[in-house]
Amino acid sequence: MLKRKSSLKIINKVSTFKNLIKKLHNKKNRKPIILIPTMGALHQGHLSLIEKGKKIGGYTIASIFINPIQFNDKNDLKNYPIALQDDIDKLNRLKVDYLFIPKIEDIFEKNFQTTVTVNDLQKNLCGMHRPGHFNGVTTIVIKLFNIVKPDIAIFGKKDLQQLIIIKRMVKDLNLDIKIIEGRTIRERSGLALSSRNKLLTKTNYHKASKIYLGLKMAKNQFLNGRNKSIYLKNKLIKFFKSEGLNNIEYVQIVNQEKLEENAIVKKGDVIVVALKLGKIRLIDNLKL
Ligand code: AMP
Repeated sequence: MLKRKSSLKIINKVSTFKNLIKKLHNKKNRKPIILIPTMGALHQGHLSLIEKGKKIGGYTIASIFINPIQFNDKNDLKNYPIALQDDIDKLNRLKVDYLFIPKIEDIFEKNFQTTVTVNDLQKNLCGMHRPGHFNGVTTIVIKLFNIVKPDIAIFGKKDLQQLIIIKRMVKDLNLDIKIIEGRTIRERSGLALSSRNKLLTKTNYHKASKIYLGLKMAKNQFLNGRNKSIYLKNKLIKFFKSEGLNNIEYVQIVNQEKLEENAIVKKGDVIVVALKLGKIRLIDNLKL
């Protein structure tokens, strides 16, 4: 365990972390254990989840682990941004209690062969375009849950399908963990913060800021009485193309329960989009 000047304790080893958690669990009148899992290169979106956790009042635990088994694209994994010292400084400032940064070998032992699958919810959207991705996500999340044994875990709505899949997994596997959702934090332009934004060229960064503009335009159409899914989607696709956002992976309007499309859109449905700018894949969503 590495103790720094500040109160943030950084732990790398799974066994050390499990011992710590045992101690926390055995404390009299113990406070809730609150986990915020991340892959690092922290931005205000991540920090907003941590601030949310801090407000609950408990032990806040952030994890940083670039989970190799959720990357279906090897180059995406290779190029994923890392900013460890900066992350540590940010977590220190927020007075996070513990930071868990496990090593890959400690998480995935040589003969590792067990995964967790949430079936139907991963068939559509990102699951369809990123084979194996959500199996990787649910497997690492359940492993983190087993190591950290949190009472509460916080995830962002930015990754809506991930959030819905994790909530399903928690229910299906009878886990006693409360999942709290954090709203999407955006730049002034509307661009949803993402660690991958750092990898965009200046031109593509500018184009990316049009994604949210398009989502808002489609929402306005809906609020003005247009409720045919096909109309709204075509309108949005046309808008994206006019802004140079040509490499669209999907534009869908889905319900939040099953992530399925309906011909007629209802209040509470969500427009979800994924597109590529150069090699960088971005996702966003907006609730209607
Ligand atoms: P990641 O590091 O990309 O795995 O994300 C870690 C957590 O931060 C996930 O729960 C994400 O949904 C959440 N997150 C990512 N971007 C944002 C954002 N712009 N606003 C709020 N939460 C976010």
